[in-house]
Amino acid sequence: MENCIFCKILNKEIPSKIIYEDETCFAINDINPKAKKHILVIPKKHIESLNEVDDFDLIKKMFEAIKKINKQENITHFRTQINTGKLAGQEVMHLHIHILSN
Ligand code: AMP
Ligand code: ZN
Repeated sequence: MENCIFCKILNKEIPSKIIYEDETCFAINDINPKAKKHILVIPKKHIESLNEVDDFDLIKKMFEAIKKINKQENITHFRTQINTGKLAGQEVMHLHIHILSN
């Protein structure tokens, strides 16, 4: 999707360190961390938000990825967050799950 920051990161049009990747999703460190560790888990497919998800197998796979990422990053305690819609604070209109750990 044009003009989507996360699609541009995936396509290497914007430099960013991808810390995890599988066939469904990838993860990066949040550029403006709101916790000691703040990671974003992002589906490779451009989906605007949770409101546009039809196949919830994607969400299952993203949480499986979260477990792997947490193991890789030595995260044992964390919160997850999905902002859905601009009025709820969603800034990037490409679905993502925040992992926040202090
Ligand atoms: P949300 O408010 O749920 O849409 O979250 C979007 C998140 O993306 C925010 O926490 C931003 O700090 C983060 N973000 C925006 N641009 C980048 C970027 N280039 N690299 C990493 N994180 C970013
Ligand atoms: Zn996108």
